[in-house]
Amino acid sequence: MVCHCLVLETRQGLVLVDTGLGMHDIQDPSRLERRFIKRSAPWLDPHETAVAQAERLGFKHEDVRHIIPTHLDLDHAGGLSDFPTAEVHVFRDEHEAAMHPVRRGKKFGYRPRQWAHGPRWKPHALDGERWFGFEAVRPLPGLGDDVLLVPLVGHSEGHCGVAVKTNGGWLRHAGEAYFNHRGLDPVVPRSPLGLALFQRLRSVDNAARLANQARLRELVRNHPREVHVFSAHCVTEFQRHAASSLPVASALIQGAAESCRGAIPATR
Ligand SMILES: [Zn+2]
Repeated sequence: MVCHCLVLETRQGLVLVDTGLGMHDIQDPSRLERRFIKRSAPWLDPHETAVAQAERLGFKHEDVRHIIPTHLDLDHAGGLSDFPTAEVHVFRDEHEAAMHPVRRGKKFGYRPRQWAHGPRWKPHALDGERWFGFEAVRPLPGLGDDVLLVPLVGHSEGHCGVAVKTNGGWLRHAGEAYFNHRGLDPVVPRSPLGLALFQRLRSVDNAARLANQARLRELVRNHPREVHVFSAHCVTEFQRHAASSLPVASALIQGAAESCRGAIPATR
């Protein structure tokens, strides 16, 4: 597995989509769930963190002005504390669920210590326009229609996909809406049995998750050249994007191609 993060260079500063595990998780692994460490055996290498990779690209942590976590599970939110000055954009339902996990029926995944530093939360309502068959899609403020928050509820209450406009079509981070590239195969979708069961058990609304997966497959089937979808944890997709030259970025999103080559694996 990887944690596939994306950093975009925009006129509003850097935008980071997902943060993977962070420097503080590595310095103090007790911030993570014991079960997670046992099951996933994360590679706790400081050089793999988003902040270290951004610094290697010549940026400072404060250059990251906006973060869009696809959701706030520990392997997506661990790096929040490495970028304490960034605004953190989440759907209101995700924020509420993460702040009150027991009341909202979420048994595992959220680790409040990862946001004990007090992030600059920017919760957004689940409403907006229709986009490629997805409802309630809204742009990230200040960037026109070039970065979109696309609800993909199911794995968590306010799970969010992110679509980035490039001159070669849309680049679509689907977070944990699916796990493995085979799950999105438009002809014969399949997922390893263990992973399928794991996803089902970890979802707050499995029916919504499956419905969104079906919609993503439809998207890939009907718009193979217009939309390029990848998930948070698939190694195959990560290697494909990290190795290839993506289409030239649009006027606003100057660095999408370079950023994707610097995509960030945080666990293996
Ligand atoms: Zn995850």
